[in-house]
Amino acid sequence: MAYDREVKKTLSITAARNLLLSTRLRATDQRIALLRTLSQLRGPVPVEALTKSAQGAYDLATAYRTLEAFVRAGLAKRIELSQGRALFELAGAHHHHAVCTICGRIKDIHACLPAGLNARVRRTSGFARIDDHQLEFFGVCTLCAKSV
Ligand SMILES: [Zn+2]
Ligand SMILES: [Zn+2]
Ligand SMILES: [Zn+2]
Repeated sequence: MAYDREVKKTLSITAARNLLLSTRLRATDQRIALLRTLSQLRGPVPVEALTKSAQGAYDLATAYRTLEAFVRAGLAKRIELSQGRALFELAGAHHHHAVCTICGRIKDIHACLPAGLNARVRRTSGFARIDDHQLEFFGVCTLCAKSV
């Protein structure tokens, strides 16, 4: 069961629990809380944003550990931006991001690589399979473009 990002709604406790159970992760209160915060904040966010809006429900170390478990289980995506900044978001429909290099604003981009590139990467890498890819676009948003 994949969480539908298009719904744009905070997960209920029941929905969060079911999502965890569908991946065989134990549905602890902390995991349910973190999953709900992820769904509430939507966009890719740093771990600090999650602990801040959770108001003490879990600490930074727990959040990191839990997020790594979520990523392994396919519940969350880890997005690496420049300068080693890692952001997390709830896994949903496959998409990419456009990142403003001035203010850090991030927009979801629902366009993907041209068909055939996967097969080409597989051939040139000699891999048996290519399962996934990440691709982020960097530029300047319209608001920042106006103010320079
Ligand atoms: Zn900007
Ligand atoms: Zn996204
Ligand atoms: Zn893609």
